[in-house]
Amino acid sequence: MKYIDDKLFYKLIVQFLVLSQGQNRLLDTHINGLRQQLKQGASLDELKADLLSLSKTINHVLKQKPKTPAPPVPEDCLQRERFLNRLEELLTGINIPAKFQAHGKIIRQKLKSKPDDEAFARLFNAAVALILDINHHVHNEQQETEKFLESISNQLNLLDQQTRLASASNLASFSERESLNAAIKSQIDTIQDSASNALDLSALQNNITLHLQKLTAQFQLHERDENHRLQESQKQLTEMSEKLQALETETSILRNNLKQAHALAFHDPLTGLPNRLAFDEKIDAEFKHWKRYQKPLTLIIWDIDHFKKINDIYGHKAGDKALELVARLLQHRCRETDFIARYGGEEFVMLLQNIDAEQSLQIAEKIRRLIAETDFNYHGERVGMTMSCGISEFLAGDRQHEDVFGRADQALYQSKENGRNRCTIYR
Ligand code: GH3
Ligand code: MG
Ligand code: MG
Repeated sequence: MKYIDDKLFYKLIVQFLVLSQGQNRLLDTHINGLRQQLKQGASLDELKADLLSLSKTINHVLKQKPKTPAPPVPEDCLQRERFLNRLEELLTGINIPAKFQAHGKIIRQKLKSKPDDEAFARLFNAAVALILDINHHVHNEQQETEKFLESISNQLNLLDQQTRLASASNLASFSERESLNAAIKSQIDTIQDSASNALDLSALQNNITLHLQKLTAQFQLHERDENHRLQESQKQLTEMSEKLQALETETSILRNNLKQAHALAFHDPLTGLPNRLAFDEKIDAEFKHWKRYQKPLTLIIWDIDHFKKINDIYGHKAGDKALELVARLLQHRCRETDFIARYGGEEFVMLLQNIDAEQSLQIAEKIRRLIAETDFNYHGERVGMTMSCGISEFLAGDRQHEDVFGRADQALYQSKENGRNRCTIYR
């Protein structure tokens, strides 16, 4: 130690103490003690014990320290830590779908655990793969959602069409439609509840699909019932229409029969003229009409003279032929407004409108002459025939049509009494 002078040694000690302070907790105790002694002006001998003690501690510290000194923390390590923190923030910040949450949790925990180089590379790759998986999953879900919404839209369109059909059916019963409406409302309420409470898309899809299926089934049931009802109604309608047609045919037959019966009942089959029954109805109606309007109306009663003889001489058939001829002649001479009937046997009656007894007498005379002049040929034999009549107007004070009939009959009687083949007005 004599090779170094004391001053230099002092200087070296002070410099060492300044340089070494703060490097190690064990050394600092010695350094502080030495610096205190140096401040108090201790000599090198006085420092010796403490320097030896420091030397031992230095040896001890050197033994404890690793052989290769710890490298200083490089800048890229700091960046890696910041990067890990950002990665963890990213995984914490994004909304991780349920199926990836467990995996995400593991990666986040590993990110926090300050991994070494090798582990960092694996972890980084795993985190990137997870983010890509999540992205892929979300994309798929979006596509599925679009498809699902399209299918819901289609089903709702179908339901809409069916609703229109159902409401168009005028045979649908009110209560049926009421219960269908209630069912639809309940299913839609349930769908709305499901939509608000659903935890994830697949649960929502399942729920909505289930309820839409139920709705569709209810519609199909309703439609089936409607069709059934419609078919039943149409069947009943067809049956009713057939019955109605049968009834119409029957009615038409009955009407024709009635017409024929009426014709038979009111017409004389031999001459085709209205019969006594028809005359009775006619004179009753005309009497009422005459009472109301007081327009002239005249009755003539005709009777074939000695008709019995014709029957007796030429036979009954000849008599019939004669009756037919007389009917034709009487008709021929009458106007369309006049009414003529075979009253019975060889007697005929006429109702003449709007003419009085005198005017009627002129017509009657023409008829009488015509019949008297007409040759009735039977089997080559000429059969002569005359007719007589009695004429009476409807008169004020007549209470019933029998009154006028009685007067005309009396006039006829006078014609017979006065030699037949003549016309007489009741006076
Ligand atoms: P009068 O001049 O007094 O009237 O004599 P009349 O012979 O015509 O009268 P009467 O009453 O005595 O005879 C009527 C005859 O008319 C009697 C009957 O046989 C005949 N007669 C009645 N209806 C028919 C008929 O439908 N066909 C035929 N062929 N004869 C009939
Ligand atoms: Mg007679
Ligand atoms: Mg007669």
